[in-house]
Amino acid sequence: MTDQAQTGNDDRADLLIRGADRVVVFDAATDNHAYLHAADVAVRGGRIVYVGRSYGGTAQREISGRGMMVMPGLVNLHSHPWSESMNRGFGEDMVNPCLRCTMYEHKPGWGDDREGWRATANVAYAELLRSGVTSLTDITTPYDGWIENFAASGLRGFAAPMMRSALWSLDREGEKVSWNWFADDGRESFARGLEAVDAAIAHESGRMSAMIMPAQVDTCSERFLQEALEAARKRGIGLQTHACQVLPEIREMQRRHGLSPVAWLQAIGVLGPDVTLSHAPFLDHHSWLENEENDDPGDLRRLGTAGAHIAHCPTVLTRYGVMLEDLRRYRQAGVGISLGTDTAPQNMLEEMRLAAVMARTAARDPAAGSTAAVFEAATLGGARALLRDDIGRIRVGACADLVLVDLTHPSMAPGHDPLRCLVFSAAERPVKDVFVAGRQVVKDGRVLTLDEPAAATTMTAANRRALEAFSKFDRAERPPETASPPVLPLACEISGKQRKA
Ligand SMILES: [Zn+2]
Repeated sequence: MTDQAQTGNDDRADLLIRGADRVVVFDAATDNHAYLHAADVAVRGGRIVYVGRSYGGTAQREISGRGMMVMPGLVNLHSHPWSESMNRGFGEDMVNPCLRCTMYEHKPGWGDDREGWRATANVAYAELLRSGVTSLTDITTPYDGWIENFAASGLRGFAAPMMRSALWSLDREGEKVSWNWFADDGRESFARGLEAVDAAIAHESGRMSAMIMPAQVDTCSERFLQEALEAARKRGIGLQTHACQVLPEIREMQRRHGLSPVAWLQAIGVLGPDVTLSHAPFLDHHSWLENEENDDPGDLRRLGTAGAHIAHCPTVLTRYGVMLEDLRRYRQAGVGISLGTDTAPQNMLEEMRLAAVMARTAARDPAAGSTAAVFEAATLGGARALLRDDIGRIRVGACADLVLVDLTHPSMAPGHDPLRCLVFSAAERPVKDVFVAGRQVVKDGRVLTLDEPAAATTMTAANRRALEAFSKFDRAERPPETASPPVLPLACEISGKQRKA
């Protein structure tokens, strides 16, 4: 690896990281990352201007890279910051045996409380930043002040306002899902979404962009999806939609069209290198579907041929007993792999660990999910889905989105391969400093751009309100403690004999 320098070293850099033990650099020859030992990284105007052995210029601010690894900020392609942190401790043990998923069950974070949404989002943004995320796709029901709040987090933001032609509802028994179509086919929802997309793209920070997000493949009409892709292409941005995520959706799409969701998307012209399917475990080869053509994975071929991507979020799948079968097969078929944190925790490094472990488990092969493959998915994979060649990598000209990992942190000892230690053992603990566009947003593990404890306090108060209102939204008007019983019984129910002892 030779030094990369865009200009002479005479110009003063804004920031110089001098003498880092390791830098994870982008190697254009392999279109992937490589380790560079003992190197400098210089930043000017929010971009990387030097990566190499010895920066000859001066800098306004110089920090020592001694004992540090500099890696590119992680690119998270799928997250719902407005709601999911408020569902912590509530939904994880929920079981709906009829549907084999709990997606349609009401949860506290899904109420209509703007103050709660903002606080919950700030809790998530902080957690994401501390786990090294610098680019975030924020999939949200658009609300007033959302884009401003998102931008204020300091993240490089990709606003993905959910838009749809229909809403789900679940019957009282929790057995049957219904699709309730809007009379206007979602025109109003579409217009509101586009407004948020354009506001993000035009944001004065220059740090914000967007994805077009028809919410789910089964809640959007054919015309809606086609126009959504047209809107994405007009703006040069990607489209993402939840697809092949639960069994009721697969059955419904079969009933409507006689096709798998992927085959239908292909038939209506909504697949391509600018299309990402969120989750997508239930392609037509998945063992739960018991399709006869199991040996001919048509959906994988369709996605791979189109150059489409998936946003893989293993925590939310495996929590409810679902396995993506399997990540290596998707890669081999040519499907782009990116990662996201669909649920709480919003910890990208833990998500990477689970992605590697589950890839091996699903393939029944310990070689099936390497650290290199999940690191690529969490950086370059996300960037490709966002149609960006200037994020998720450290090279001259790329955005200065950088993460400094403290190699001397006890969780990183004894110092074998740093990325492997980070993903398999340490997670966010040694993440020391984070920069987005050259601006420091995390210092010594603490988020500088927002008040994380205050956000948690506000979220807790909003959660109390959400629990009070819970039964109004629940399918059977159940109180929250019935919908999600406590992990342990209350101590007053202990028998008299035990109490005496
Ligand atoms: Zn999602």
